[in-house]
Amino acid sequence: MSDMRDLYQQLILDHFKSPRNKGPLPDADTTAQGRNPLCGDEVDVALKFDGNQIVDIKFEGTGCAISQASASIMTTVLKGDSVSHARDLLDKFSGMMVTGKGSLQQLGKLAALADVHKYPARVKCAMLSWRAMEASLERRTVAVSTE
Ligand code: ZN
Repeated sequence: MSDMRDLYQQLILDHFKSPRNKGPLPDADTTAQGRNPLCGDEVDVALKFDGNQIVDIKFEGTGCAISQASASIMTTVLKGDSVSHARDLLDKFSGMMVTGKGSLQQLGKLAALADVHKYPARVKCAMLSWRAMEASLERRTVAVSTE
């Protein structure tokens, strides 16, 4: 169990030091800003769609290791994923932030952040990129509305 924890901490540190999919996405369909004033974290998430698929996702931001690593891990999981599965993962991830329990099968490397639930102030850090992603998805719904 402690081996697993070490592995998870290494994964978080690795994503913090070498963030994936970080930078501008000039041809993004939607973007949303995430701000966590409690910790000073900033995460902006940009999405590009093809039908119901997220073909590209990038983030930009600064902040603590949890906020930045969570954003980086999220982009690697959601890139190429369907919009409906992205929403499903958002539900499962936010559930894990409440209970500390997450299925490795369902959440994959996102489970590395399960321990964050023990530190309520940090949960906001871990959720920031997900909330920005969600807001970005909502804007898409508005954008394709015929009304
Ligand atoms: Zn933070």
